[in-house]
Amino acid sequence: MFCLSKSKYCGLWQCPKIAWMKKYMPEEFVADGAAVERMNNGNEVGDLAMGLFGDFVEVTSFDGEKLDLSAMIEKTKEEMEKGTAVICEASFDYNGLYCAVDILKEENGGWAIYEVKSSTHDDKEVYLADIAYQKYVLENCGVNVTGTHLITINSGYVFDGKLDIHKLFRITDVSSAIVPEENSIKGNLMIAERFLRNPAEPDILINENCNKPYKCGFWKHCAKDVPSPSVFDLYRMPFKKKIDYYRKGEAAFPDLILDSGITNEKQLRQMEYALSKKGTYIDKDGIRDFLRTLSYPIYFLDFETMQPVIPRYIGTKPYAQIPFQYSLHYIEHEGGKLEHKEFLAESGADPRRAIAESLCRDIPMNVCVTAYNKAFECTRLKELAEAFPDISEHLLNIEQNIKDLLVPFQSGYYYNRAMGGSFSIKSVLPAIFPDDPALDYHNLEGVHNGGEAMAIFPKIKDMPPEEQITARYNLLKYCELDTLAMVKVWEELLRAAE
Ligand code: SF4
Repeated sequence: MFCLSKSKYCGLWQCPKIAWMKKYMPEEFVADGAAVERMNNGNEVGDLAMGLFGDFVEVTSFDGEKLDLSAMIEKTKEEMEKGTAVICEASFDYNGLYCAVDILKEENGGWAIYEVKSSTHDDKEVYLADIAYQKYVLENCGVNVTGTHLITINSGYVFDGKLDIHKLFRITDVSSAIVPEENSIKGNLMIAERFLRNPAEPDILINENCNKPYKCGFWKHCAKDVPSPSVFDLYRMPFKKKIDYYRKGEAAFPDLILDSGITNEKQLRQMEYALSKKGTYIDKDGIRDFLRTLSYPIYFLDFETMQPVIPRYIGTKPYAQIPFQYSLHYIEHEGGKLEHKEFLAESGADPRRAIAESLCRDIPMNVCVTAYNKAFECTRLKELAEAFPDISEHLLNIEQNIKDLLVPFQSGYYYNRAMGGSFSIKSVLPAIFPDDPALDYHNLEGVHNGGEAMAIFPKIKDMPPEEQITARYNLLKYCELDTLAMVKVWEELLRAAE
């Protein structure tokens, strides 16, 4: 029998090959940290939204680790017959087409579908396709569908100390909006069936949709024949344009560099250095001009933040970036000793006041502070200043004195071909110091990037004491390396400018 789940159907909307890959080559899927975080957010939001309409029955059932779909379908039937007004994860199967409705609510003599998304956007076509699919399955199972709604996060909601889920969630009636999707369901299902019945890998090349809305988890498999380096490694080119070059057969650098359409100096330098195996490009005047903007005492600052979808701290909105940690290296005067300070909040409580006060203690007013890609640190400092007016003058003084260490790289004053097309500190550091194990993020334990830091910090409060100590140590070491990396990069710029 031809079988399809809601997620496979929605994958079709992005690219028909996704459903095929999920069926025949699921092991090729590479989940990135952000995808896992999105899934966790989705689960948290879904659980909270279940209470939107009062009492409810959730039919989720497990057979060991796996969802027991047959039990869920059976339980849904029982609850509907019993007259349960709100059923969560209500499950249906129509000839192999399966779906679980986030919230199924008795309404207007029938049943209304409420689909919950952890996004703040209610205009994504894929959501409409998702709901249209659910309606198709339910109606073919004999359910009288009397409403279709999308529940998303209200980005304007401000937490005032008591969570109000009726204000946090925004409910949109999508009955009219899903009509075009409803009209194309049969055609889409035919395409899906054609693909899914055929064990031969579909002849679909990488395309614009591989990056929509997120980079497809099967990219590594589908792009395996793309040469390396290629147009997909190129600095700051829109993905659609990269696909155009790929389609023209100009993905490889030797073909690409001959294309007169590329005039961006940094892109041309990237290709030239990659092809000629040149080492490092240095524009001494540019670097000197940048270094003249810095002065002693010099501070190197980096924040770690978390981004809770459901706000828990007074005055914050969904997905607000909440700083919980910083690392600070500093040198008082030329030839002075490198010193280090750090802050890591207690997991669970609101970290903002403690981090703001600690920053004011650790960074004097009117000193030169550096950050790497300063917009992030500056925005966090402005947010803290707004939250705590009594210390805002000091916080804004720090913010106004921040210089961006990214500038010499982004401006093209310093380029090393090992950086490829990225000037993030995670690309720049190993390119300049390839053989220093103390500067290798891979050698850290537990936390290797901001995404991991963001995911671990809120969980610390629920860990056993031993694990808490380890997790906090790992976070401190990770953030410390971020600012040590900035010091090393600055020292390299000083050397290059000599
Ligand atoms: S990488 Fe692109 S072509 Fe391959 S399955 Fe994903 S969206 Fe389709």
